[in-house]
Amino acid sequence: MKKFLALIVAAVVLMTANVLASNYVGNANSKKFHYADCSAAQKIKVSNRVEFSSREEAVRAGYVPCKRCSP
Ligand SMILES: [Zn+2]
Repeated sequence: MKKFLALIVAAVVLMTANVLASNYVGNANSKKFHYADCSAAQKIKVSNRVEFSSREEAVRAGYVPCKRCSP
């Protein structure tokens, strides 16, 4: 039973990690997008934060690449 619970916990942790692993983050206010680990990306307010799973997705949404991290 304990092993079963450990498996469920591991699965939930993995799923959460996947959700957080969006590669690109956009700023809905400035219309710029960044690599998720760009220092400017970390400063985006939660309310302005848009996540993209691919570069194309961000470009198609009208976002321009950040000059600092040039995604
Ligand atoms: Zn950036």
